[in-house]
Amino acid sequence: MDAITKEFNRLEKNGSFDKYIDDVDGLIELLQKTRKTIDAAPQSRREQLAILKSGCTSWTNKMAESQKDIYGALSKYAKVLDKKFKVDIEAAYNPNAFPQSGDKLLDRAVAMHLIRDGQFQVADKLIQEADLDIPEALEQEFMDMYRILESLKQKDLGPAIEWAASKRDRLAQSGSNLEFNLHSLQFVHLFTHPNGNGTRLALEYARENFAVFGDRYLADISKLMCAFLFQSNLQASPYASTFLSPSAWDDVAHSFTKEFCSLLGLSPDSPLYLAALAGAIALPTLLKVGSIMREKQTEWSSENELPVEIPLPPSFQFHAIFVCPVSKEQTTDENPPMMMPCGHIVAKDSLARMSKGNPNQRFKCPYCPNESIPNQAIRVYF
Ligand SMILES: [Zn+2]
Repeated sequence: MDAITKEFNRLEKNGSFDKYIDDVDGLIELLQKTRKTIDAAPQSRREQLAILKSGCTSWTNKMAESQKDIYGALSKYAKVLDKKFKVDIEAAYNPNAFPQSGDKLLDRAVAMHLIRDGQFQVADKLIQEADLDIPEALEQEFMDMYRILESLKQKDLGPAIEWAASKRDRLAQSGSNLEFNLHSLQFVHLFTHPNGNGTRLALEYARENFAVFGDRYLADISKLMCAFLFQSNLQASPYASTFLSPSAWDDVAHSFTKEFCSLLGLSPDSPLYLAALAGAIALPTLLKVGSIMREKQTEWSSENELPVEIPLPPSFQFHAIFVCPVSKEQTTDENPPMMMPCGHIVAKDSLARMSKGNPNQRFKCPYCPNESIPNQAIRVYF
């Protein structure tokens, strides 16, 4: 890639791009000039067109010359790109992992993603063409969400506060602080408004709106109130991080989206987006595995499991998992984690192996001196 960057730098230094643009400008100028002349003196049309013809040829020849350099670099660029990124993604594809099903799962996932992404027209078209069963009310909900997010972008908290107030009980049930955080941001917004009477407006706002939150957020409200002592020099006060946070609006928009989706029973990020992102992270490893398996002529045999471990960032971990310390396998519904009377946990299959398949056979726990029989073990849920 370095060679290409050098090549482009050389072209830029030589003025190849500028020269080409100058040539195009020259040609445009010639055409405009000819039109003006003909408009002013129509009788000179034939003569002017002849001049134009030879002028055009000379400009296009010049352009072809300067193009040569650029085209040369472009074709090299394409070759380097091909060489660098040409990988056969098919190698990482396991047809058994994603069987063709008649229930339009993929279509549904795409339509849901489009709705969550606010691309309602495209989603509608897909729902209609693929004949999907997605309730219209859900789309309406997301339209509402985008309307509120748009207001937040304009620094108008009204619609978001109205929504949060209408869902107060459900938000409180899930332990959400969203409604208070919205009011608190409104207070800060007024307080820091440069129009001069911001602090007075903020105080009025607090009087009107904070009373409801007194029980649960007294400490937070007290902090907001103490900021009045520092209003002349907020920057140097202990309140700078709350009152002058550059990410306050983004944070509140993010937590609004999260709460909104959670009340709909959905995750804050589109599952399709997460799956595609996880896939992109996993792809290099899977390609490598694919090529090793091809070399050794082995097959991908496990059905619901990848042949290698693929580390994903913590934000991609949604459930607790349990790996049996004996077999090193991740437990599943068929092979669940089982706790022995001593409190140690192993997978059900390991339990069966240790007791030689006999549910009443005594065996020693692999991690402590206690003995028990498989029938005494109980299933553990994480
Ligand atoms: Zn034990």
